[in-house]
Amino acid sequence: MERATVGIDIGGTKILGVLFDPERRTVLARRQLPTPRQDPTGLAAAVADMIDGLAGSSAIAGIGLGVPGLVDRRGILRYGPNVPGVVDFDLPSALRQRFDAPIIADNDAAHAALAEHQLGAARGTTEAIIVTQGTGIGGGLILGGRVHRGANGFAGEPGHMLIDAGGVVCACGKRGCWETVSSGTGLANLARSAAAAGGAARIVSLAGGDPASIRGEHVSAAYEEGDADAAAVIDELGRWVARGLGSLVTLLDPQIVVLGGGLTAISDRFLDRVRSQLMDSVVGGPHRPVVPVVAAELGAEAGAIGGALAAAELALSRT
Ligand SMILES: [Zn+2]
Repeated sequence: MERATVGIDIGGTKILGVLFDPERRTVLARRQLPTPRQDPTGLAAAVADMIDGLAGSSAIAGIGLGVPGLVDRRGILRYGPNVPGVVDFDLPSALRQRFDAPIIADNDAAHAALAEHQLGAARGTTEAIIVTQGTGIGGGLILGGRVHRGANGFAGEPGHMLIDAGGVVCACGKRGCWETVSSGTGLANLARSAAAAGGAARIVSLAGGDPASIRGEHVSAAYEEGDADAAAVIDELGRWVARGLGSLVTLLDPQIVVLGGGLTAISDRFLDRVRSQLMDSVVGGPHRPVVPVVAAELGAEAGAIGGALAAAELALSRT
């Protein structure tokens, strides 16, 4: 195949797109814009403009869309807790009116997993868990060398496993999902709990004095200043992440766990805590090989690159 493909990753806050050369496996161009929330028509128009902008006047071989939520096997977004106004939305059909190229849509984290498996930290493995920690938590499972989709296409949603009964309410409406204590939102939630208990003074001050305004970046900024409360919040984050991963490892027995998204960058302390506590959360931990926990290699572009790879596979299957 000579022509490039387009991969689009629709996140809770931004849309990222790449023009990708499947032969050389390189990104040729990239674009980014804020996600129009609660508006399917605006979302489709924004994605179409982005594809036009990336492709320019050249024909493209395929389009791969990564959407944050439950995407069925026909590519319809059934439900996405982090794009609340967008339900039962058939984005591929909306785009087919404008583009001739084959279009595939899947969960954004499944695309990120495909990219990390083919080109990134999980390459060479056949059993891998890829967890992407952003606004929420996305997951992709590589089982038997392929992305595992499940009966309906909905497999790999670890962010909504119940882990903290009685905890904070999640974007999905349930209480105590893993992402309420282990995503970017989760980091802020943990810092707010520390503030409510009378601590985290420096974090609250960096957030302008209002605990409700705390975001993950205030925790990492305080930690970089040497703040002990921020270090304690990061330790707690590590504990929760290790607990959730422990359940996944117990269930799936992977060769490797890959963590993507922004949280691995907050400090080495976070990954160290996860690694040191993971095997304690796995049944028979001392009697099994240690499962390596590594940072994803493709960064914020993993989902978009995975979309482009999925589009290339689809185009190839049709030639
Ligand atoms: Zn949830």
